[in-house]
Amino acid sequence: MYKQPSYIEEGEIGVKNNKILVFSIVIVLITIGILVFTGTLAYRMIKGNSDESSALAMSGEKTIGKSEQPKVDEKTFQKPNESVEPSPEPSVTVKNEPKFPAHDINAAMESQLPRYSDEIAQKVVDVYFEETKKVYLTFDDGPSGRTQEILDILDKYEVNATFFMLGSCVERNPETTKRVYDEGNFIAIHGYTHKYSEIYASPETVLNEYNQCLAAIRNAIGVQNYNPHLFRFPGGSSGGVYADVKQEAIQLLKQNEITYTNWNCLTGDSAGSLTTEQMWTSLNESADGDDNLVILMHDAGDKNITVEFLPELIEKYQAEGYEFCTYYDIMTE
Ligand SMILES: [Zn+2]
Repeated sequence: MYKQPSYIEEGEIGVKNNKILVFSIVIVLITIGILVFTGTLAYRMIKGNSDESSALAMSGEKTIGKSEQPKVDEKTFQKPNESVEPSPEPSVTVKNEPKFPAHDINAAMESQLPRYSDEIAQKVVDVYFEETKKVYLTFDDGPSGRTQEILDILDKYEVNATFFMLGSCVERNPETTKRVYDEGNFIAIHGYTHKYSEIYASPETVLNEYNQCLAAIRNAIGVQNYNPHLFRFPGGSSGGVYADVKQEAIQLLKQNEITYTNWNCLTGDSAGSLTTEQMWTSLNESADGDDNLVILMHDAGDKNITVEFLPELIEKYQAEGYEFCTYYDIMTE
């Protein structure tokens, strides 16, 4: 009932066919017209863009906003019009842009190095007063033959420590120094000679020993711009015969962006503790009441007892939920 042929009479078929033919030709012509018009329009748009890009390229403009523009156009227009005429100019402009931001290795190194600011210096001073359960293992007077054994223990328990080194020992043990650094421990400075009459001759000699030790560390670890900005005075930062020189040295060090620290508990491994029992007594007495423990120990050559004691110490504080930190954590905050 709805089929077309049912309305066409037999005699009119030829005429109908002719009309259909003419109608089809008209449709084809209109379609071609539309295609040509669309093609021309697209071509002009691309041409306009590429001219703009060429002009940019020629003028040598490197403004980020403008040079980024062709990137977007390239994606939008190149794909659908590939058969019409791909425009090379935008991709040339894109090539001029670095694909990734330049990776500055020195800048990356810089960001990992210890820093100095008044705020950081204050945090170092306040380290004993933090009310969190943290343990700072610190070793003075090394590196020596003992240091390798200490590193093995630290490695086994997956903790790090801070080593306040002597320049003279660093020069004798450069490989050990490098291993201390490479295994994520923090190297700070304890001077060069450890002879009180020499280092405390004046504030300047304190700074000189800092710099002598620093030069030795830099050579050993192969990082020429390394600076821990942290010093531990041999014998402590106050008291004794050289108390006045130490006070003046504190100011001179500060002017040179160097802060200092002491300890708030100790094993007594440099002052009479000969057994692990004595070390526990010394540590428990000195640590009494503090949550944050900066433990003074020594990795000098004759400190076998410290090596023997260290696993017990780490196990105890790990079992009690203490976090093991280094001054590196403060100096890079
Ligand atoms: Zn010392």
